[in-house]
Amino acid sequence: MGRLPSSGDRWKGATGEPLKTVVKRRPRKTQGRAGREAHRSGAAARLERQLGALLYAEVDLYITDNTYTMISFQRGLDLWRVRLHHMFLEAERGVIEQLAAYLRGSGREASATLDRYIQLNRYRIRRVALRHRQKKLALPTAGRSHDLRLLFASTCRDYEEVLGEPVEGVAIGWSPVPRVSVPRRSIKLGSYSADTQVIRIHPALDQAEVPERFIRWIIFHELLHHRFRQDLRARTGCVHSAEFRRLERTFPGWRTALRWEQRHIDWLLCWRPPEEHDGMGPLGRGSTVRAARVLP
Ligand SMILES: [Zn+2]
Repeated sequence: MGRLPSSGDRWKGATGEPLKTVVKRRPRKTQGRAGREAHRSGAAARLERQLGALLYAEVDLYITDNTYTMISFQRGLDLWRVRLHHMFLEAERGVIEQLAAYLRGSGREASATLDRYIQLNRYRIRRVALRHRQKKLALPTAGRSHDLRLLFASTCRDYEEVLGEPVEGVAIGWSPVPRVSVPRRSIKLGSYSADTQVIRIHPALDQAEVPERFIRWIIFHELLHHRFRQDLRARTGCVHSAEFRRLERTFPGWRTALRWEQRHIDWLLCWRPPEEHDGMGPLGRGSTVRAARVLP
C-alpha cells in the first residue's frame, strides 16, 4: 500500500509512478468569499509569484477558506499545486520564506514558524458548525454490493478502543465517480477530510468481489486519520506517524488486506463504472458529481 505522505493520503497503484504528472496550467482558483476578494485584490497573484520565485518553479496557488487544513500541496514534475488558507495572504516575507522551505521539505524551524503563524491567526478561521459543513456534501452510503453505513458502524464499534474515543461527528460516503482514463496509474481508495470530518471511499470498491473486511480496513485507516487529525492541520508533521502505523497493525488481518490489495491493484486500476445503473448508490442519477478534491 504505497503512499505519498508528502502530498496527502494517497493510495497508489502498483506502477509506483506519481499520482499526477499533469502540468497543464489552470487558471488560479479561489474559494469562498474571502478567496474571491483576495483574487480581486491581486494578493493571491502576488503570493503565487513570490512562492514561484522561492521554489524556482511554477506554482498554481489555490486560496482556501478552510476551517481545518491550512496548508496542503502536491508537487508535480514542474508545477507545484499549493492550497493555502487566506491568512497567508497577509504573511510577512519571513513567513513566506519558511513556507517555501517547508514545501521543499526542509527544516523543523519552518514547521515551528508555520505552526506559530497559524496559531496567531486562528481568529481568521471561520467557525462553521460541522453539520453545516457536512450537509452540503452528497454522501451516498448505499452501494450496489456494499453498504458503507453498516461497514462504518461496525468498524467504529469494533475498534473504539484503538481509535481512542467513540467516533462522533464523522460522516462517510462513496466518492463521486472520477472522470479519468482507464487504466489509471493510481487510485485513491479512501480519503479523510479533517475540515469536514468526512471519509470517502472509492466506488471501485463497491463490487461483490471486494471483501467487506478490505473495505473495513480502508475505513479503519481513514478513522485513524481522524484520530490523528491534529497531524493534518498544517501538514507539518508526518501524516502516517510511527504511532499511526503501530495502531494500523492492530487491525486483525491487516496482512491479508495488504496482500489482497497487492493482488488486485491492477484490477482496481482498470475499474470502469457500470454503464447501466439502477439509480442506487454512488452511481445513481441522484448523486452529485463534485469536482472539489478532498485533501485529507
Ligand atoms: Zn493515510
